Parts: sequence; C-alpha cells; structure tokens
Amino acid sequence: MKDYIIIGAGQAGLAMAYYLKKQQKNFIVVDANKEVGAPWLKRWDSLKLFTPSEFNNLPGMKFPSKKGHYANKYEVADYLKAYVKEFDIPIAFNQKVHSLKKEDDVFIIKSDTQRYTSRNVIIATGPFHTPFTPACHKNIDSDIIQIHSEHYKNPNQLQEGDTLVVGAGDSGVQILDEISKTNRKVYFSGNTNIGTLPQEFLGKTLWWWFSKIGFLTANKYSWLGKKLSNNSQPVIGTDVKTLFNKENVTCVGRTLDAEKKVLVFEKDRLTNIKNIIWATGFKPNFNWIEDIKLDNKQYPKNYRGVSEDLEGLFFIGLPWLYTRGSATLGGVKKDAEYLSKFINKKDKKLQAV
Ligand SMILES: Cc1cc2nc3c(=O)[nH]c(=O)nc-3n(C[C@H](O)[C@H](O)[C@H](O)COP(=O)(O)OP(=O)(O)OC[C@H]3O[C@@H](n4cnc5c(N)ncnc54)[C@H](O)[C@@H]3O)c2cc1C
Repeated sequence: MKDYIIIGAGQAGLAMAYYLKKQQKNFIVVDANKEVGAPWLKRWDSLKLFTPSEFNNLPGMKFPSKKGHYANKYEVADYLKAYVKEFDIPIAFNQKVHSLKKEDDVFIIKSDTQRYTSRNVIIATGPFHTPFTPACHKNIDSDIIQIHSEHYKNPNQLQEGDTLVVGAGDSGVQILDEISKTNRKVYFSGNTNIGTLPQEFLGKTLWWWFSKIGFLTANKYSWLGKKLSNNSQPVIGTDVKTLFNKENVTCVGRTLDAEKKVLVFEKDRLTNIKNIIWATGFKPNFNWIEDIKLDNKQYPKNYRGVSEDLEGLFFIGLPWLYTRGSATLGGVKKDAEYLSKFINKKDKKLQAV
C-alpha cells in the first residue's frame, strides 16, 4: 500500500510529485497515457503557448527556452519529460483509472489491469475530459468530415472544399486562422463579439502585465477573482477582428440544427460544407470517483484542492482551483506547494497521535 497515489502525470501531477519527493513520501503516479507530455503532443501541430517561457516554470526547474519565447507543444512535452528524469518521478503508464472509492480509511483505485491501494489520493487528471459536440452532429451525412478539436492536427486531415469551424474559444479561432490560410472558403460559427487580448502590449508580454495588475494572484474568493472567474476568458494572441473580416471567412452565428447536408445557423443555412471542426470544448468527468459531490460546473467540491467530502482526497490542476494560474504551467506550483504543506502538517499530526 502507498501513502499517496497521484492520478495523472501532466504538469499538475508532476508538480505535486516534486513536493512529495522532497518530503520523501511513499508515492507513485499513475497515468492513462503511454508517455509524459501526451496531452500536449495530441493537440494540433501548430499549437504555440500563449504564455512566454518565463511564466512556464514548474517548481524546481526552469523552462529551458529564453525569456519571451512562446514554446510549441513539442518543447512543452520535452520539458515535462526532462522534469520527470531530473527528479526521478515514479510513474506507472497505461493505467487509466476507472474507479476510485474509499473503504475503511483506504482508497481503492482500479485500472483495467491493476488494483492499487493508498491512504491518500491526489487527482491530477486535468480539466479536459469528454469532448463536447452538439447533438445535431449525429444527423450530419457521413461524407462530411467531422473532427473535434481534440483530434484536429492540421489542414491535411480535411478533404477539398468549404469548411466550417465551430467554437469561439482560443482553439476555435486558432484553427479557423490556420484553415483560412489554405485559401478555401471557411465558415465560422459562434459568438463574434468576443474579448481579445494581444500577446504583447507596450513592449511587455501580456503575462507580464497580468502579474503586475494582480490578475495571476487574485484568488477566486476575492472580489477581483470572482469577477475574473465568472467572466468568459478573452481570446489571447489572435487578431479575431482581422480574421473575421478576411475575404474567405464568413461568420454565420451559432449552430442551431443539422440534417444530412443542411446546416442551420442563426444567420445562414448552408448545404456546401465538406469539413467541420468542432472546437466546442470539453465536459469534466469525475463520475468514476465514489462519494464526492460536484459543484455547478461539474468539478469536485474542494477548498484549495482539499476535498470537502473525503478525507485524504485532493485535487490539483482544476481551472480556478484557487487562481487564474491554477491550470497553467507556471501557476500550478503555488497550489502544489500549498497542498504539500497541508499534507505534511496532516501527516505530522497523525504521527504525533
Ligand atoms: C490548446 C491549449 C493551449 C494551452 N496553452 C497554455 C499556455 O500557453 N500556457 C499555459 O500555462 N497553459 C496552457 N494551457 C493550459 C494547461 O497548461 C493545460 O491544460 C495542461 O495540460 C493541464 O495540465 P494538467 O496536468 O492539469 O492536465 P493534463 O495535462 O491534461 O494531464 C492530465 C493527465 O492525467 C491523465 N489522466 C486523465 N484521466 C485519467 C484517468 N482516469 N486515469 C489515469 N490517468 C488519467 C492523462 O493521461 C494526462 O496525462 C493550454 C491548454 C490548451 C488546451
């Protein structure tokens, strides 16, 4: 039996592992993927971070690129791999956990091939679980290629012809931008009235300004944190106004319905679409954990990562776990440090009994 099991070897799980290792805890990390960095490598090929290198540091090891560099997904995956090597973090790969329950003070964790037991469990399975696609996608003709952004890599996956991109988040506008450069006709479905921020302003990076203004440290219980966490996040680094005004881009409003080749939008009705990219986000999935309650956004109830329902259960890496930075490379260390101190205090109390 372990004292701690971390489920998930992404940046959040690794930051937590760093502190547990320092505290010489008896722990292991288990992960569904076959390698570290897999969630990044699976994302689209041209992905570049919106945070410059100096804001990407995990605890104990600097991101290797120079200040002001916006790393690509391969550089992030390499950094995470180097991190595991540097701190000799024990990871069991190919272990997708499908159930977790607590019985007589012990957590039982099951994957398809293993059963683990542990006194404490830290869930670091990331914010992106089940890709969400509007139900009407099932009515669409099979000769139209449909790809969720989770599986989109580059325009070579598309067939010739007009293409629709649905979704007004960072991924939607970045993919729209990339596909619009292939000179085909591209339709955009989603809200066009979205807030945008440039990556740099007055010679400083956006993240530099965020850190000066206090956007990165405002916690979700504060006045500023409540305002920031309840507003939709602006798109960073894509000039959407210019993009939406490009000659080959047409904005059609929200997607309302679909039947075979007919796609119905707020502002249009199309029958010429050959490819659809659904950049329509993800739904969290924590229903494999028994006896926990979820909040209105379907995330487990917790305070700064400490479960409100089960003693010995912790969470890290959730969006706005505490601050805007909680689900970023450079921001997760503060949450990991807080949790590790909480854990250490708890263990010392138990030892003293
Ligand atoms: C397109 C995009 C761009 C981004 N750009 C930036 C950026 O510029 N800067 C920045 O700081 N952040 C950025 N982020 C945000 C953030 O850094 C990532 O979302 C990050 O990958 C989240 O880290 P994580 O460790 O919490 O989760 P993940 O990286 O998703 O890792 C979770 C791990 O848990 C494992 N797992 C999941 N479920 C199970 C299970 N049931 N059993 C076992 N293992 C499981 C997965 O295999 C995975 O390895 C971006 C995110 C996206 C999507």
